Amino acid sequence: TNAHIEAVEKARALNAYVLETPEHARERAKASDAKIASGDAGPLEGIPIGVKDLFCTRDLRTTACSKILGNFVPPYESTVTSQLWRDGAVMLGKTNNDEFAMGSSNETSAFGAVVSPWRRNGSNTPLVPGGSSGGSAAAVAARLCLGATGTDTGGSIRQPAAFTGIVGIKPTYGRCSRWGVVAFASSLDQAGPFTRTVRDNAILLRSMAGHDPKDTTSVDRPVPDYEKAIGKSVKGMKIGIPKEYRIDGMPPEIEKLWHQGAEWLKKAGAEMVDISLPHTKYALPAYYIVAPAEASSNLARYDGVRYGLRENGRDVTGMYEATRAAGFGDEVRRRVMIGTYVLSAGYYDAYYLRAQKVRTLIKRDFEDVFSAGVDAILTPATPSAAFGVGEKSGADPIEMYLNDVFTVTVNMAGLPGIAVPAGLSEDGLPLGLQLIGRPFDEETLFSLGEVIE
Ligand code: GLN
Repeated sequence: TNAHIEAVEKARALNAYVLETPEHARERAKASDAKIASGDAGPLEGIPIGVKDLFCTRDLRTTACSKILGNFVPPYESTVTSQLWRDGAVMLGKTNNDEFAMGSSNETSAFGAVVSPWRRNGSNTPLVPGGSSGGSAAAVAARLCLGATGTDTGGSIRQPAAFTGIVGIKPTYGRCSRWGVVAFASSLDQAGPFTRTVRDNAILLRSMAGHDPKDTTSVDRPVPDYEKAIGKSVKGMKIGIPKEYRIDGMPPEIEKLWHQGAEWLKKAGAEMVDISLPHTKYALPAYYIVAPAEASSNLARYDGVRYGLRENGRDVTGMYEATRAAGFGDEVRRRVMIGTYVLSAGYYDAYYLRAQKVRTLIKRDFEDVFSAGVDAILTPATPSAAFGVGEKSGADPIEMYLNDVFTVTVNMAGLPGIAVPAGLSEDGLPLGLQLIGRPFDEETLFSLGEVIE
């Protein structure tokens, strides 16, 4: 813990942490020492981790990296983090993220952009770590913690994991409790861990997962000992290669990586099968209707009365307006506007309802493939390696949204997906592959992920 506290202080230029809690960490680490000495250690005893600032932490500032939450200090702890503390983990601080987890580069944070610890060969251009969980990914990659929590609504764990050369899993919807996690799009949001190895990922997920009566969408199923999946044979497994993921303009290095991943799995005894997920091309547009719709509803609670920031106005409506105008950044406002538009009378059927129907079709595509005997699906995690800070945050938001092309389908279908580091781009940046599994079959993803890693 002391070594990590020092590392965090030395790496402030990355802007990975928005709150450092060294005193709290030292106190917790001492308690862990005592537990270890008395033979009473939990499975994560003394392990220093970072926590995305989307998880409520009791008595410690939680902002979702939005001005509107101000200096909000939750009087409660999220279920996922409380399970990590129960098992002995030590919190080093809260990590940076895109405001309300809306973004793919960690540039929409009210605390400013996170800078990746990676650079292109022979270049000093600062790169994004990906988003929205960019602070967690950068912190794990730069060794500013041993693991970190993230959330993934459309790719926010898998894309930053791929950009920073680490492992990130988005578990099945319902596997981890959403209680105490600031909501973005409730039917898509899931928590999951970032780590440097697949094995560490399995260990952290075991602590984070589990049924929680406080989240009615969390599922009452026993949590397996995921670590047992590491090293398990993948012989005879059928791995689907979906043709729709071979998108136009895909860089040859991504195509090559994908092929390489398939070869590794084949060598380990798995069988590759060509599959089709015909509705893939509609996933991104449908996601960017469903997610903003839910966000506009979830963000209605930030009214200047209940949390953090308040700006006075001429009357109560004026106060709401002034608070929301001062508190929300551009991307969040864009989402609220899109969301309220697609939900409004007259447009609901054309946009929201249609997007929900498309979502069902996407889900069915996966169900058909899995019921035909496919055990998991292999795809690239992202359409490119990390890009430069400022490079894609210009006037056209679609540029940024296109980053999610391989990841949003998984959230739309509620499936588990893992990103594992698989190689380097021509200019020396990490590239990741994604494995998509059957509902609640994270174990298969860990077994296969370890083969690729
Ligand atoms: N980049 C996607 C978005 O901006 C996904 C973000 C996320 O998974 N939280 O909506």
